[in-house]
Amino acid sequence: MVSNCWLMASYLPEFSANFAPSCILTLEGGMKSRAIISFFGSLNDFFPQNRKNSPQSVAFEDGCGVKDLIESLGVPHTGIDVLIVNGTSVDFGFRLNGQSCIEVYPCFSVPQKDTLLHLQPPVPENPSFILDVHLGKLTHLLRMMGFDSLYRNNFGDKEIVEIAHDQNRIILTRDKGILKYRLVSSGYWVRSTDTGIQIKEVTARFRLCSRKKPFTICMECNGKLKPVQKQEIESLLEENTVKYFTKFAKCCNCGKIYWEGSHYLKLRDRIENICAGER
Ligand SMILES: [Zn+2]
Repeated sequence: MVSNCWLMASYLPEFSANFAPSCILTLEGGMKSRAIISFFGSLNDFFPQNRKNSPQSVAFEDGCGVKDLIESLGVPHTGIDVLIVNGTSVDFGFRLNGQSCIEVYPCFSVPQKDTLLHLQPPVPENPSFILDVHLGKLTHLLRMMGFDSLYRNNFGDKEIVEIAHDQNRIILTRDKGILKYRLVSSGYWVRSTDTGIQIKEVTARFRLCSRKKPFTICMECNGKLKPVQKQEIESLLEENTVKYFTKFAKCCNCGKIYWEGSHYLKLRDRIENICAGER
């Protein structure tokens, strides 16, 4: 994750906020190579207000990897879907030489074309996640929607990266640094600190509403839920629960029992609300 690029990032105030994606470069005598990098759409979330939506000028040693150069500015590779260098679509292994005009696009911002390399892996039909220590409440909501989501309040960065790699899990984090590890192939930096907004961010980024399977995962432990007959668990329930409800499910891991009571109806409404704006 450490960049070996020699950086001299400098904001170019002469460019307007509505810059064109193309740029013209001039190099002064004796200088190292220079790139002008334009970040589009949600990638501007990684910058302070005075650097948003404006090209950034960066000096680098020839041979510097384009991924390292961009990550050294604070944008992890997991947020980048299309990279254009001097008009050509390139991958993360591309090495820069000489003056370079770089355009950087987030997911879903550029239409699919044969001539474009899309660098983010497609979202699996059944995506699974691992979340950092700041995202316990978000974990519960993802499980509610039926997504396998690992969480512990003492996960370390390296542990998260290794588990994600070994189990093909998407990393969700409030820490941009985790996403810069080379082993990380898929992840998302959660912008908001509000759980209600976080779940909308994540469902939009990974198109989760069309993939959801509500109430199939235990919200407490991430175990799978299986339907269970009332008579099998009757002795564990309160009298009114036995009297008024007929459908039950049990966690295969921790044994927690779920039924379609008033709490279930509230959660069902919450899922409808989360997905209200998504196709
Ligand atoms: Zn459980």
